Amino acid sequence: EQIIVKDFADKLRKNPNEIIMKLIQMGIMAAINQEIDFEAANKIALEYEIEIHKKEEERVEEVDVYIAKDEAKDLRSRPPVVTVMGHVDHGKTSLLDAIRKTKVTEREAGGITQHIGASEVEIDKKKIVFLDTPGHEAFTAMRARGAKVTDIAILVVAADDGVMPQTIEAINHAKAAKVPVIVAINKIDKPGANPDRVKQELADHGMIIEEYGGEVIAVPVSALKGENIDNLLEMILLVAEMEELKANPNREAIGVVIEAKLDKGRGPVATVLIQNGTLRVGDSVVVGNTSGRVRAMINDKSRNVSVAKPSTAIEITGLSEVPDAGDQLLAVDDDRTARDIVANRINRIKEAQLKASQKISLDALYQQMQDGQIKELNIILKADVHGSVEAVKQSLQKLSNDKVIIRPIHGGVGAITETDVMLAAASNAIIIGFNVRPTTHASALAKKEDVDIRTYRIIYNALEDIEAAMTGMLDPEY
Ligand code: GDP
Repeated sequence: EQIIVKDFADKLRKNPNEIIMKLIQMGIMAAINQEIDFEAANKIALEYEIEIHKKEEERVEEVDVYIAKDEAKDLRSRPPVVTVMGHVDHGKTSLLDAIRKTKVTEREAGGITQHIGASEVEIDKKKIVFLDTPGHEAFTAMRARGAKVTDIAILVVAADDGVMPQTIEAINHAKAAKVPVIVAINKIDKPGANPDRVKQELADHGMIIEEYGGEVIAVPVSALKGENIDNLLEMILLVAEMEELKANPNREAIGVVIEAKLDKGRGPVATVLIQNGTLRVGDSVVVGNTSGRVRAMINDKSRNVSVAKPSTAIEITGLSEVPDAGDQLLAVDDDRTARDIVANRINRIKEAQLKASQKISLDALYQQMQDGQIKELNIILKADVHGSVEAVKQSLQKLSNDKVIIRPIHGGVGAITETDVMLAAASNAIIIGFNVRPTTHASALAKKEDVDIRTYRIIYNALEDIEAAMTGMLDPEY
């Protein structure tokens, strides 16, 4: 197990020179493009308190950046990050507005606040961060990308409408994400409001409210009248306390992109939730497949800040491109390290795309076998008589060896048609014809779809070609 110094430095998010210095101290003279063994790499990683592992043989996706684990002694409690979910029109937006209003001072309310996709409120000197994107679409989209951003979900249910399809969806999403739920029974000011019915319906879906002997906290509120909002916020803090949310503020930042866009004046801007560590203006960062240096940070009150601690949402500028929501942000040692990591990621994506789009062909068969891209060769057979199809099928199957299995997936009598080409394209097969030719349309389609069609007069020649292709001895077609 060897690793090139430069790659190793990237993974540790350290400057290669620093790694080289450490190697020299260990008596190892290695240049930036030379390989070092696992033992040496491990010693250095340990100095940084980073755990590294030997790459498992079969691991397809390789982690390109090692993230050091925090020690318990470094962890401090952090504010909860909350998402509001619920059925359409049950009052998600109104609730977020009401929450903001109760806590925002008059002066701030009067000013022009730029919407950054998240807002912070403070009660009893304790912070709560609300993600403004209401609804579970954002929530699930992020989760699908492997990002867990929410600590607590507020499920808004209108007291006059009760549990509806999207309420149930939200319950299921929160359950799947193992996120604790607080129910806000909204619109209690309405004449038709029936909070008890809501509680009963929630129980029917496995959400048992405290007063019914369960564990779920429900708070009756009116977003419109601003009623009982304080109580809801206190419940959020209570649940947060039970969750013992912690992070290490004294480490390089790790965050996740909540939303991002291209701003005419400021270039790419991204709202990032800092999940661990502290982000500072001037930090070099990798964000998904882009990188940059944090030029400025704006908080939810539209103020410039220079430091963002765990559970802070800030809008950052300075990235070279617009990242995607759900992308991870990692602060690294310097710009160069950031650029190298991104270059590696992009290369890997390109390679994967190339592999995915590369259609099978006899000419490239040997190479594709060597690359481990294919383990079987699918063949569609067309011939002028039925007897030939059967004969060739059997001879072909006998050509299979331990490297590649020859699999005739379809055989028929008559010209090679568009349907044959479509089937070949869909199943990554090549087409072999005996004493038949492709129709004009089939030829054109094959060209477009990159399907390899071979025609022969003698069966023996076909078998010979395939055998040659399997051993890399096929002469390329002109
Ligand atoms: P969302 O689709 O869940 O974001 O719901 P909205 O916040 O847009 O609210 C939908 C409608 O319900 C709006 O007309 C709100 O004014 C109204 N609404 C929201 N909360 C309350 C409430 O507490 N009481 C009453 N009476 N109406 C409310």
